[in-house]
Amino acid sequence: MGFATKAIHAGQAPEATTGAVTIPIYQTSTYVQEALGRHKGYEYARTQNPTRAALEANLAELEGGIAAHCFASGMAAITTTMLLLGSGDHVIVSENTYGGTYRLFERVMSGFGLRFSYVDTTDVEAVRAAFTPETRMIFLEVPTNPLMAVADLEAIGRLAAETGVRLAVDNTFLSPYFLRPLEYGAHLVIHSTTKYLNGHSDSIGGAVISARADDAERLGFLQNAAGAIISPMDAWLVLRGIKTLSVRMERHEKNARCVAQFLTEHPKVRRVHYPGLPQHPQHERARDLFSGFGGMISFETGSLAAARALLDNVRLCALAESLGGVETLICHPASMTHASVPSEQRDRLGITDGLVRISVGIEDVEDIIADLDAALQKV
Ligand SMILES: *Cc1c(COP(=O)(O)O)cnc(C)c1O
Repeated sequence: MGFATKAIHAGQAPEATTGAVTIPIYQTSTYVQEALGRHKGYEYARTQNPTRAALEANLAELEGGIAAHCFASGMAAITTTMLLLGSGDHVIVSENTYGGTYRLFERVMSGFGLRFSYVDTTDVEAVRAAFTPETRMIFLEVPTNPLMAVADLEAIGRLAAETGVRLAVDNTFLSPYFLRPLEYGAHLVIHSTTKYLNGHSDSIGGAVISARADDAERLGFLQNAAGAIISPMDAWLVLRGIKTLSVRMERHEKNARCVAQFLTEHPKVRRVHYPGLPQHPQHERARDLFSGFGGMISFETGSLAAARALLDNVRLCALAESLGGVETLICHPASMTHASVPSEQRDRLGITDGLVRISVGIEDVEDIIADLDAALQKV
């Protein structure tokens, strides 16, 4: 079956009692038991919920994993993934990772004895050089947020296999429609379902998809033991969002290509970061790894004043954190999504005060471009 068919049907057989074609929102905390020790496989809703189970079955199928576990947010998914590790373990991380991930690793997980090295994962040799005897995981974001660097996923997948170290990939930016990291040797795929999977800016959630039985079993245990589960309502919203994932991603990408081209040609824009542009440093690699380049673009306006003038003057593009919704969102990474990254580190990475990030929505692209063009006149 093709991707779009699986997106609509996997994990979602019509409901047995009534034949409802849509999986119900099982809004319950517990399940009645027939007799002591006899029940239908459902005991308590932190442990099992049919709406959540449908979403998990669907995501496992879309990413090509053996199981998925869903969480209250992308950060809860990443936190629970880190609970697979123990004190003293070392993790190699993509250097311009999501600000919330950086904050979790440096200000929470390091207090429990985990250690992190941030490296340029576009270069497999930099990853190899960062290995220590305690390295237990490589954590990639593909492409990185907000500079759209494309990790050498294929070579890092082979390195993970050679060394027996787990490879986890945050696939939030591309969704399984454009990239399936397990095909390149990743063991775990992470999503903030808040973004493209839900796609309508009306839910917060996260997921981890496993390739290995031992990880799947442990994550199931941790999901119940630590308890950061997605709610039935959010699970249902994400299931509904995923039904249109393939058509939305096609349109996000088509619009993003046009917007990236427009920005490239605009005299007020110094540099555009989009893996779909031939001048992107990892364009060839992105073309090999991805079946599309996604809807995320960042670009350099040159200064905080220029970025501010642009952001103060957009009308259609909404000034907001987050991404992956049907509406175009625009933000200032240095003061918004990446404010928790120290300023010296932001400078070193190129997350400058003039950098603007745009999550291109699925509106008419002429309207998005007209809005950006009018706001850029004010720069
Ligand atoms: C948003 C995001 C997260 C965190 O997800 P939440 O649902 O906001 O907790 C993690 N990784 C990436 C790449 C993100 O964009």
